Amino acid sequence: MAKSDSDKSVSFMRSLCMGQIEEDVLLPFPTMSDDEKELLRGVSDALSSMLGAHAHDFRKWDREGHFPESFIDELKEFGAFGLVIPEAYGGLGFGSMAYSRALQEVAKYDASTAVTIGAHSSIGMRGLLLFGNEDQNARYYPKLATGEMIAAFCLTEPGAGSDAASITTKAHRDGDDWVLEGNKLWITNGGIASFFTVFAKTDEGRKGGMTAFLVTSDMAGISIGPHEDKMGLRASSTTTVAFDGVRVPAANVLGEVGQGFKVAMKILNSGRTGLGGGSVGAMKKIIELATAQASERAQFGKPIREYGLVRRKIGHMVVDCYAAEAVVSVVAGLVDAGFEDYAVEAAISKVYATEALWRTVDEGLQIAGGNGFMCEFPYERMLRDCRINRIFEGTNDILRLFIALNGMDGVASQLKDLMSVRKSLFSAPIKGFGVLQDYAAKHAQLATGARVQGTHFTKLSPQLGKHAEAFEQSTRELASSVDRILRKHGQEIIGKQFASNRLAEIMIDLFVWACVMSRVNSAIEAGAADVETQLRILDVFAGRAGGRIRTNFRKIDDNDDEHIKALSDHAFELGKFGWDTL
Ligand SMILES: Cc1cc2nc3c(=O)[nH]c(=O)nc-3n(C[C@H](O)[C@H](O)[C@H](O)COP(=O)(O)OP(=O)(O)OC[C@H]3O[C@@H](n4cnc5c(N)ncnc54)[C@H](O)[C@@H]3O)c2cc1C
Repeated sequence: MAKSDSDKSVSFMRSLCMGQIEEDVLLPFPTMSDDEKELLRGVSDALSSMLGAHAHDFRKWDREGHFPESFIDELKEFGAFGLVIPEAYGGLGFGSMAYSRALQEVAKYDASTAVTIGAHSSIGMRGLLLFGNEDQNARYYPKLATGEMIAAFCLTEPGAGSDAASITTKAHRDGDDWVLEGNKLWITNGGIASFFTVFAKTDEGRKGGMTAFLVTSDMAGISIGPHEDKMGLRASSTTTVAFDGVRVPAANVLGEVGQGFKVAMKILNSGRTGLGGGSVGAMKKIIELATAQASERAQFGKPIREYGLVRRKIGHMVVDCYAAEAVVSVVAGLVDAGFEDYAVEAAISKVYATEALWRTVDEGLQIAGGNGFMCEFPYERMLRDCRINRIFEGTNDILRLFIALNGMDGVASQLKDLMSVRKSLFSAPIKGFGVLQDYAAKHAQLATGARVQGTHFTKLSPQLGKHAEAFEQSTRELASSVDRILRKHGQEIIGKQFASNRLAEIMIDLFVWACVMSRVNSAIEAGAADVETQLRILDVFAGRAGGRIRTNFRKIDDNDDEHIKALSDHAFELGKFGWDTL
């Protein structure tokens, strides 16, 4: 079955937690159409020449802490704000894969520029793309495509960061309008935007529900705070945005009243490939810089590229970059193919790509030695710029909890059914025994590794046989571990963060491994000339991920969690480190 024909409600990771390998979700590795590739090549080349001309300015603008208006105008003229807007409204109509690849190109030059474009397309106007009605699209798409309107996403507040549901910005209905009151914090593009997707509590419909509004700067009562002085992304605009009795016409409600939290989460999920693409682009740049630096710099009579420890770093960067691009591409492919349930996979792509970039920049800086620490070279700026990626659009810690808890969702509801069947066993014995037998049979099959349909790969090249087998073994172990953890903790799992984090680590490794296999499989099928090199990447990734996965499975029962908790309590009690040699 082709990916386009497969069931669009299936999630690879939720299924994996139940022991099912949905290979049609993963294979073939997504590609763009020839037309899209040609358009993208043209756009990438043009982006390179426009941004390349500013290579020295980016450092200056980082120091000054803002972009000149003329540069933002240049981005507008280029069409950089219209990447994902449908062609009918003046945009380029890029799908997620092409968009993510275009942001790679931008991030090679400057992260602040990538974030300015990304905050507009990935989150600021993404709600319109996902939920806008015809009237809203017609009113705003053309201006958003040209950059006449730049978009911002307003969710975070002083008291509501990770706990986005606790926002206090409110909107109440008054005649045909809604009246908005509240304060938003750290809004990217705040200082240059005139289109805001704003989330506010509305007490209509569901109690405590939230609604999304499309707010424009011509509505009276909006005030923008000063430009924040930041560690990184210094030229990108970050400000507070306050709403003081702002009257928003009912026609500007985005999606349904009371459904704003879902709207916000869908926007963040759908936009993740932008940040992923930016991370991959920056990794490619670091690999270029580090290979050049290691070839030019000689110590102890030889270029440092000849030393094992330098080669080891470069080799790992290559594996990380290939894997990050694989996972971001698979997720972008799911979005483009119309899959509905990719939230867990998108969260994994964000966590993996942003952490792979952090490792790559750190090692690139190390290869550059003292030069890496000097502002004259780009490493320190890239290090500062990419640190925020692990914090915004959902911290990687919260996303790990999300990955584990949402991944286990399917198993949890199966177990819930099972428990209710157990209770009703005596009132409806025939039905009850049937369900219990099905469940017991499935688990017996999983435990033995029997070739039950859906638990093995059937479409991977035979060249990947050993990888497929190792992955299938880990999948069986994942399913039985999830089952065991849920039986042990039940609903209490929500508060068991050590256990959830461990499961998330296993799930991240498994999904990225699956994406790398999918990518290498496509290379084998296409007869790529460098397939041996790509197989090496898979061998390294699978060897390391497999080791981490085995360790994490072992630690489910044999760990030092209680020691760590006690040490943390000790530090909290004292409010400081408890020892000194003085
Ligand atoms: C440069 C920049 C740009 C931004 N752009 C935007 C934007 O355009 N729009 C927007 O709406 N927001 C934006 N943000 C806000 C950003 O999304 C938040 O900073 C982020 O969601 C984290 O919230 P917080 O900073 O309040 O941290 P907190 O939520 O206070 O978290 C602090 C720490 O506690 C941890 N933590 C919190 N709760 C838990 C828990 N239950 N279990 C375990 N650990 C927990 C977190 O992981 C984190 O490590 C931006 C922020 C920055 C710095």
